[in-house]
Amino acid sequence: MCAILLKNASLVCFDPINIDICDLRIDKGKVIERDKPLIAQQDDEVIDCSEKLVFPGIVCAHTHLYSALARGMPPPKQTPTNFYEILKYIWWRLDRALDEETIYWSAIAGGLDAIGSGTTTLIDHHASPEFITNSLSIIKQALSDLGLRAVLCYEVTDRNGLMGRDLGLKESRNALTTLTNTRGLYRALVGGHAAFTLDNTSLKALADLASEFNCGVHLHVAEDLLDEKHAPEHYQMSLIERLEQTGVLRPGSILAHCTHFDKDALRIAQMSGCWLVHNPRSNMNNSVGYAKVLDFGSRSALGTDGIGADMFEEAKFAFYKSRDAKTPLSAERILSLLAGGQHLASEIFDEQLQTLNIGASADLVLFDYPSPTPLTAENFAWHFIFGMSSAQVSSVMVQGKFLLKDGKYQTINAVEATEKTRQAAIKLWKKMQEL
Ligand SMILES: [Zn+2]
Repeated sequence: MCAILLKNASLVCFDPINIDICDLRIDKGKVIERDKPLIAQQDDEVIDCSEKLVFPGIVCAHTHLYSALARGMPPPKQTPTNFYEILKYIWWRLDRALDEETIYWSAIAGGLDAIGSGTTTLIDHHASPEFITNSLSIIKQALSDLGLRAVLCYEVTDRNGLMGRDLGLKESRNALTTLTNTRGLYRALVGGHAAFTLDNTSLKALADLASEFNCGVHLHVAEDLLDEKHAPEHYQMSLIERLEQTGVLRPGSILAHCTHFDKDALRIAQMSGCWLVHNPRSNMNNSVGYAKVLDFGSRSALGTDGIGADMFEEAKFAFYKSRDAKTPLSAERILSLLAGGQHLASEIFDEQLQTLNIGASADLVLFDYPSPTPLTAENFAWHFIFGMSSAQVSSVMVQGKFLLKDGKYQTINAVEATEKTRQAAIKLWKKMQEL
């Protein structure tokens, strides 16, 4: 494959925010030169980026690809009145209906959405209780067919009995064994549903597995008040104490939501080296409350919790929700949350995914932004919130390979794939009705 030369690109870094008009040479999946000017060599594919911003690929730090076929599905038989019923009547019926085929096409549907939105890394949290074994390999296959980067885990829980729990642990071990220490686009974490569906033996099993593979545990934490109240009612201690005592609070663990953590709990989680992931659209949609994002610290990021993969949308909701709650986050802080996702991915992959410096992996987005007002590093974050959207994503590259080029998908026939995802959705919805 020939090298790619991006000419006159406005290279943007999110943290610290920086804009540098420069040329970039990409070869063998990495940025190998960054200077102005770089002279085109005979075999270079030269791309004029003089009207474009180029930034490192965006990371969704908490998502559920398995929910990608839920869009537009029939309403549940009973209308949920609280968070537990939302899980019971909607998501725990959907995940039970998943099989080999619908897991694959869910991942394709979610992956297409990610590519179109400039999201190059998905940190996924998967559940399919009737098809646990090999479920993560199917997701990996789908994402590999698209060329996306991802961190996978299986959502271990006690809610389907000991056999279901142990199969989840086995699938986790299998993914960790296969994906750890490879140089490819995939890694695994240990996954758990939430403390309120895991007893202490199960939480300790997650922590032990994470310790064995030197990785984090990816878990929903204090999403609803239900989770926060469950620990003192059943274990005579707070949720953060329970997570600490069972060993789940460890460096690299991803705590999704933390909606009901107080400042002390957030501080303990941060001091343990955990990442805290805010999912504003999901929290608003489920009416579970609003996290103390101002106290999330530096190891924090944004996720969609399965509501697509458009991080421009998620970032805007994070911004507006904070203002509506009268605990405003600055536009720069929102950008630092997006940068947090890139740092988190860099940490997991042990690669530079947060910069476009020499040596960084060539995971990047080409972005059309003919701004009607001056654009500088100082005001970039405000342009991001008030002027930028995924509609301006023109090309997307992962490890030096274009997945989207000038708005056209490169690794898959998107029209055919979308017809297949629609067929898979019909099958999934029908199966859900029968459960
Ligand atoms: Zn989630």
